Amino acid sequence: MSRSEELFAQARLLIPGGVNSPVRAFKSVGGTPPFIQSALGAYITDADNKSYIDYVGSWGPMILGHSHPEVLDAICQAAHKGCSYGAPTEAEIQLAQTITQLVPSIQMVRLVNSGTEATMSALRLARAATKRDAILKFTGCYHGHADSLLVAAGSGAATFGVPSSPGVTQKTAQDTLVLPFNNLPAVEELFKARGTEIAAIIVEPVAGNMGCVPPVAGYLEGLRKICDQYGTILIFDEVMTGFRVALGGAQAHYNIVPDLTTLGKIIGGGLPVGAYGGKKELMEQISPVGPVYQAGTLSGNPLATAAGLKTLQLISQPGFYDRLDQATLYLTEGIHTILQQYNIPHIGYRVGSMFGLFFSPRDVITSFEEATSSDLNRFNRWFHGMLQEGVYLAPSQYEAGFVSAAHSAQELEKTLEAARKVAATL
Ligand SMILES: *Cc1c(COP(=O)(O)O)cnc(C)c1O
Repeated sequence: MSRSEELFAQARLLIPGGVNSPVRAFKSVGGTPPFIQSALGAYITDADNKSYIDYVGSWGPMILGHSHPEVLDAICQAAHKGCSYGAPTEAEIQLAQTITQLVPSIQMVRLVNSGTEATMSALRLARAATKRDAILKFTGCYHGHADSLLVAAGSGAATFGVPSSPGVTQKTAQDTLVLPFNNLPAVEELFKARGTEIAAIIVEPVAGNMGCVPPVAGYLEGLRKICDQYGTILIFDEVMTGFRVALGGAQAHYNIVPDLTTLGKIIGGGLPVGAYGGKKELMEQISPVGPVYQAGTLSGNPLATAAGLKTLQLISQPGFYDRLDQATLYLTEGIHTILQQYNIPHIGYRVGSMFGLFFSPRDVITSFEEATSSDLNRFNRWFHGMLQEGVYLAPSQYEAGFVSAAHSAQELEKTLEAARKVAATL
């Protein structure tokens, strides 16, 4: 029995499924998740002392690679001055300044502790500002686990949603409308019928929680236009794409200005953080200036703020994104060429350093409905084969991968070598 197997058995007695977030349990691919004991640069090392080239990056935050010395230094320096005060600090101003400079649609920002909190709070604000109850989300987009977002499409398009988890009430789900991603005509049709009831559209501008599915041409522009027409608030959930697909996020990459933006992952530099922000007149409706309540004991935590600030400083250096995008392109093109050589049906997408690979025979994938054409058995063979070869990919067909600045030519080359071996067995 490996140490990870031992630990997994122990963990399952004490923690539901042995994990503190479900996808870590390897349920869809089977097998034992490596228990991690340390991480450095592009590598994570498990409890059996096996190292892997890591393309999960803690699900997005580790854009600089693991244990970046300057980020660690910033965290340690902050820790020596106290871990939390529950009182305002100068560093929070610096982080807010940095965020508002890098993402101009954010004129004011509130820090929270997770992406879930960010989207939940942004939706509350949107509902308060518009005095409307309904929101629209898209199938396959994930916005954290707040009740109103754990909702699936009901039967018959454009009707109200149904709970996608027990414990979410019908009444809550009824205020969440759900449509397929990348289908603008469906949004137009819904708004013709019910547009003036809809407080907000919330969307991942590049969907990263169903694999990696970019917006089709004109889609985000179309959502912007519809929101303007109906007085609906457009929320870009950039918890994953923020500072990932470009320094200014997907809104910079596609040149669309949302009303509110949610952030997380990278702005915490690996510590627990979220944020939401946008137009000043909207943000000034948040308490204590305005009536919309939202609070947090550890919000703006000094350690998380220090890690985030240092991370944003380092990724703002000239050329950072060019190098990262080039590395990712090299990797994804390399894998594509290898799979082609073995005649394995697949389609991959990449935006910046975020990528996905579907083992699907389709020519294009634009939605979750289309993504389900993927061969999950083949994905599982790919995943376990790569893991065996020392490459740690996300343990689900419907997750994105991430390249970090610590992935050098050597790691990329080793990954392609592994891909060649594994492709031969698919
Ligand atoms: C990760 C993620 C969230 C949730 O963030 P947590 O910090 O896990 O609560 C929300 N939205 C998107 C787009 C995400 O990728």
